[in-house]
Amino acid sequence: MQIAVLAVQGAFIEHEYMLSRLGVESFELRQKSDLDKPFDGLIIPGGESTVQGKLIRELDMFDTLKSRISDGLPVFGTCAGLILLAKEIKNDSRVHLASMDITAVRNAYGRQLGSFFTEGFFKGVGKIPMTFIRAPFIESVRGDVEVLATCGGNIVAARQKNQLVTSFHSELNDDLSVHKYFLDMIGR
Ligand code: GLN
Repeated sequence: MQIAVLAVQGAFIEHEYMLSRLGVESFELRQKSDLDKPFDGLIIPGGESTVQGKLIRELDMFDTLKSRISDGLPVFGTCAGLILLAKEIKNDSRVHLASMDITAVRNAYGRQLGSFFTEGFFKGVGKIPMTFIRAPFIESVRGDVEVLATCGGNIVAARQKNQLVTSFHSELNDDLSVHKYFLDMIGR
């Protein structure tokens, strides 16, 4: 199995480290030609969604990523990655890959005090650590989106078919269970 990690900006190295701990190979998507390599799943990391959205357009990766996801490519978006996948962003008029039937709120916990750690239940997994950094949450879901975790009444993890998103950074804790969940989605 080979996982592509979008590596134009943000916390991509941490995801590669998690995958290597799970014995899974990965490579970085830095430019359009990297999309020619075969891969079974895609991770969109945390960082700054506006910058990542701009760069995937400028690097001409946008259309290929969007069509691969709509064709069923398993994708895991964390934090900014969640925002990139959301069909609606409540406090931003610009959407990006817009493939998942969720409404995201950017910087939903406030800009200054928006970073915190907690533990919460993730459906089918149990209690896991959750690190939030100027994180979004999901205000509402539609269609066949399954809510996987909530925190303080807000949705912080969800899945729709081949797409998994979390508001929190599971790559910044020791716990491998969300990455394992994603690999199970791919069907290893
Ligand atoms: N606040 C960032 C954004 O709106 C997301 C933060 C993160 O990925 N840690 O894109």
